[in-house]
Amino acid sequence: MNKQIIIRKRILKKALLHLAGHMIQGSLVKLNHRCGNKNCHCAKPKDPGHTGYYLSVPTPEKTQMHYLPKDLLPQLPQPLAAFKQYWEIGKRISQINLALLKESAQRRKSHVH
Ligand SMILES: [Zn+2]
Repeated sequence: MNKQIIIRKRILKKALLHLAGHMIQGSLVKLNHRCGNKNCHCAKPKDPGHTGYYLSVPTPEKTQMHYLPKDLLPQLPQPLAAFKQYWEIGKRISQINLALLKESAQRRKSHVH
């Protein structure tokens, strides 16, 4: 068994667990809308409307849109970045597991001969 690879896997698993504590999947989207109030500035044709921020989250069925109050916005970049990191580390662990699987198959083969 490759000791270096086992140590690397242990470190990656720890990082994965840490990121899982605060990660959030999705991307920030800015959308303009009209509130429907005839007396509001947004009722004028050339007015850009009200700006709202949403978290767009892909799911197997459809993309979910979660409205985000403005005061939450500063808290999002870190969890969003954490999810991307989580995904990247997951792919690296997968590569290690594949390498370990192939290694064990190789070992079994060499025992037969
Ligand atoms: Zn309005």
